[in-house]
Amino acid sequence: MSEGAIPPELLRLFHLAAEQNETPIAITDRSGRIVYVNPAEERVTGYSVKELIGATPRILKSGQTPPEVYRDLWATILEGRTWEGELINRRKDGELYEEGLRITPLCDETGHVTHFFTLAQDLSARREAAMKIEYLSTFDHLTGLPNRDHFMTNLVDSVREAAAHGRRLTLLHIDLDRFKACNDSLGATVADRLLVAIAERLKGLVRRDDVLARLAGDEFALLLWDTALDPGRTDAIGRIRNAISEPVGIDGKEVSLTASIGAALYPGDGHDGDSLLRSASAAMVVAKKEGGDTVRHSKDAPSAQAGMVSRFDLATQLRRVADRDELRLHFQPQISLASGEIVGAEALLRWQHPEKGLVPPGHFIPFAEETGIIVPISEWVVRAACRQARAWLDEGLPPLKIGINLSVRHFRYGDLPDTIASALAESAIEARHVELELTESVMMHDAAGAIRIVDRLKSLGVRLSLDDFGTGYSSLAYLSRFAIDQIKIDQSFVRDVTTNPVNASIVNATIAMVHQLGKSVIAEGVETEGQLNFLRRHDCDEMQGYYFSKPLPAGEFAAMLRDGRRLDFGARPGGESSKTLLLVDDEPNILNALKRLFRREGYRVLSAGSAAEALDLLALQPVQVILSDQRMPEMGGVEFLSRVKDLYPDTIRIVLSGYSEISTVTDAINRGAIWKYFTKPWDDDDLREEIRRAFRAAAVAATGTTP
Ligand code: C2E
Ligand code: MG
Ligand code: MG
Repeated sequence: MSEGAIPPELLRLFHLAAEQNETPIAITDRSGRIVYVNPAEERVTGYSVKELIGATPRILKSGQTPPEVYRDLWATILEGRTWEGELINRRKDGELYEEGLRITPLCDETGHVTHFFTLAQDLSARREAAMKIEYLSTFDHLTGLPNRDHFMTNLVDSVREAAAHGRRLTLLHIDLDRFKACNDSLGATVADRLLVAIAERLKGLVRRDDVLARLAGDEFALLLWDTALDPGRTDAIGRIRNAISEPVGIDGKEVSLTASIGAALYPGDGHDGDSLLRSASAAMVVAKKEGGDTVRHSKDAPSAQAGMVSRFDLATQLRRVADRDELRLHFQPQISLASGEIVGAEALLRWQHPEKGLVPPGHFIPFAEETGIIVPISEWVVRAACRQARAWLDEGLPPLKIGINLSVRHFRYGDLPDTIASALAESAIEARHVELELTESVMMHDAAGAIRIVDRLKSLGVRLSLDDFGTGYSSLAYLSRFAIDQIKIDQSFVRDVTTNPVNASIVNATIAMVHQLGKSVIAEGVETEGQLNFLRRHDCDEMQGYYFSKPLPAGEFAAMLRDGRRLDFGARPGGESSKTLLLVDDEPNILNALKRLFRREGYRVLSAGSAAEALDLLALQPVQVILSDQRMPEMGGVEFLSRVKDLYPDTIRIVLSGYSEISTVTDAINRGAIWKYFTKPWDDDDLREEIRRAFRAAAVAATGTTP
């Protein structure tokens, strides 16, 4: 195709492909003058094709892109390499927009750069999605009130300000009475409407500087400047109680609620945000114990002692759990959405209480965390999970990644990297099979300290996962600053992904962005087939949830593995079987190893022992990704893939080569014949991840859109 005249029909097709492409395309000559732009470019910049031809891209300059970005851009493309990056440009109407660019130098027959080919992507939509995520992670999406994290930040700031200016604060912890019964009898949707109605009324009562937040399900917090308990201001609390107890009309019925309210004052009942909230909560518990529909102050409620006793009991009992062999781990399977196979197990802690039976972690971990007892418990979890992984291997089961939840305190104050290293050694488990689940709270505050610990953990070779994504700050900055391998989308987003368009677009945008950062995504709390299909359609990598299995004791988990239980996707929505991978290698052993690796990923795998055989296969069926050996008799990988590039330009081509062949390979990359190369021997995990990326790129090429 490179020699001789290009057939007019093909030229016409190229022209149509560019003109009708939704992606803005521009071609400039070596001096930067625009010689071609497509209509999409016109739409994005606001300039007409006429105005753009002959101009230079400087016409779009906003002065907002740092100069070093341009320096890097020019240095790269003048060397004949492709540049990828982001610029802040200005449309004709003056509006700024962020643009992702991929600029590829075009060479003539003698290898001289003559033109530059630019593919652009308007990033405004991506930015909006990021802002939406930030919003949803600071505000509760049901009531629009600040969520717990956001409230805590506010509370800390307010206490600081009150201390500096000698002012006083009142913190109210408001918990609706018998709301669970309401939820059960009216259904979750009606209960949600009730919460919204009450939140709206409370919003109407707060003054400008007061802060109202939703802490959790039926719990609100209200921070008031000055003391609402002073005589003369008690009406504030009275108004709150009235607002809650006034009936709400729902579906022709009148529902009326009451609340238990705990109050704490600053100064006096706490010296910082945490202790103040603890005092208010303790008072709320007392109000609840007294039958609800009342207000209690942490000091003037003598029965607050009762609460203290049970906490003391809990502490004593918890301190002994590890010695008494009362801790258990259950394991919940994690499933690959490409192959349907079980690829991992998350270890989840249970307390086998002598009287109370199996106690879920939510009932004791927050307390254990608060009191520091969590550190020995967390160490036990790390060791027990590794021991279990070893036991499964010894039973002849395939290696799985084991997810271990880390406590914030263990991360910060325990000698975590040492604990992990010794647990791995004791059980002879490969580090890459262990995935530590962190939450964002681990990384907040002292980020530099956290980075040091994360680096030490990474140097052991373990994987890191960011748990509960979407509920905390969900800052994308964490993803790039911390060497995290995977993010876990929280179940609160998954729950209504098929019914709530906002959450659906957030999940979708999150998956796309996380993939762009080269990391993988798992969704937790998947309970229905609809949720599963949504996630598969949007290219989520893995899932975990009751739809497949609840967390199970180790024995039952092993039985499930032995039975070969998996998700059967049946007729694949979105034509998953269209993911076809062609493997080319003249060594049968290598071909077999690769086939095994990729069949587990759920691709249709074709294989060929030579370039000629591969070209035959390509003529018979559509293939998206090709992985070829470089050193083959007759025709080598680079030559083969260069031909494929001309014949099937949409394919994604990857070469496997030895080190000695690198220069041939990089040359081919520069000519656009191949996308990436891998050196032999390869790392299975890396290669698998790269091929996933290649299929994503192929999907983008096929639809002309960017993920
Ligand atoms: P997590 O790490 O986000 O774990 C997921 C929780 O969701 C688990 O609750 C799991 O049983 C539950 N879950 C899984 N699939 C579904 C589903 O389809 N629907 C619903 N409704 N729930 C589902 P669990 O076991 O009660 O654990 C709660 C939390 O306790 C965990 O949240 C984690 O933060 C903490 N935790 C558990 N084990 C440990 C541990 O060993 N150490 C530490 N520090 N925390 C732990
Ligand atoms: Mg977890
Ligand atoms: Mg989670």
